[in-house]
Amino acid sequence: MNTRGYAAHSANSSLGLFRFDRREARATDVVIDILYCGVCHSDIHNARNDWGGAKYPMVPGHEIVGRVRQVGAEVTRFKVGDAVGVGCLVDSCQHCRSCARGLEQYCENGFTPTYNGVDPHDGMTTFGGYSECIVVSEKFVVKVPDGLDLPGAAPLLCAGITTWSPLRHWKVGTGSKVAVVGLGGLGHMALKLAKAMGAEVTLFTRSAGKEEDARRLGADRIVLSTDEVQMATVKGAFDLIIDTVPYVHDVNPYVATLAISGTLVLVGYLGPLEPMLNSAPMVMGRKAVAGSVIGGLPETQEMLDFCGQHGITSDIEVIRMEDINASFERMLKSDVKYRFVIDMSTLPAV
Ligand code: NAP
Ligand code: ZN
Repeated sequence: MNTRGYAAHSANSSLGLFRFDRREARATDVVIDILYCGVCHSDIHNARNDWGGAKYPMVPGHEIVGRVRQVGAEVTRFKVGDAVGVGCLVDSCQHCRSCARGLEQYCENGFTPTYNGVDPHDGMTTFGGYSECIVVSEKFVVKVPDGLDLPGAAPLLCAGITTWSPLRHWKVGTGSKVAVVGLGGLGHMALKLAKAMGAEVTLFTRSAGKEEDARRLGADRIVLSTDEVQMATVKGAFDLIIDTVPYVHDVNPYVATLAISGTLVLVGYLGPLEPMLNSAPMVMGRKAVAGSVIGGLPETQEMLDFCGQHGITSDIEVIRMEDINASFERMLKSDVKYRFVIDMSTLPAV
């Protein structure tokens, strides 16, 4: 199925119009007309090969919302016209221990990412949501609850679930003391979700001037992480910290703000920590530094349903497809409130 999209052709080229083929729908597939696609910082990391393993041309995008155009003969959960979402993964082995528990993101045989991956069935490269349509196995498609604004729902498919999953895993609820490091796409969803779960929420930011927004988004307290005096006021305060900073940074000052038995979960940065982590405060306080990646399909649907019940969507700035390169640059300067979402009807015709 010939499809239009926007692709990066190398680590240092800008993205431009690209035609490619999607697979023909299998019996278990859903064909989705993409209406909106969020722009995740991971799209920049991948397009620029920050993590290695980039395959070009690359069509990024894993915060996909659209409507079902067609369903295969064996599809049971969706019908033409349904509002649906696709997140960061489009396949997994389906038989390992993780898949059996609905934790497809930890598939022991490796999940298939929505883009920059290889479909294990036909060996084709996967292309993401910066495109007009996508063909996805029903199992990896979720329902967007009625009443949720569709463009605002798109970022839930990555920014939402990536923060929801650790909040649930570490059992955040009424009275939990949660902190979020970094107010970007993931960070602003973490504030909204943690607040709606009943937690007392603090934002750590290096940017003065985000206080007003942070309070509106759910923060009860804002701590400027560059200010040692402010950092000292929250020593030993938090049960859970979700750290969304995309680049290497000193995690030790945040460990000091964990309560006894507290956990800091890295979701932003992948790689060796520098400066090194000091184990002494961890040992002496039964503290943990952990990591977490996106979420499985059952918890993605659970998060969307929660957002439907609580009227939670992302704060977005809708952009035209041709604005994507400028948007990457703005995102690198933290100049977005708080997620860019591409209106796919602006994808050029030729
Ligand atoms: P984003 O919108 O660019 O937000 C990142 C925020 O981190 C910024 O707004 C800024 O907040 C802070 N920050 C940025 N650069 C920093 C630096 N050099 N030092 C300290 N703070 C910095 O990015 P995002 O889309 O939320 O993604 C965040 C990270 O999560 C990316 O690395 C992305 O690849 C990753 N990610 C991981 C998963 C997963 O499953 N684990 C899923 C999606 C994304 P302040 O100005 O408030 O400090
Ligand atoms: Zn993402």
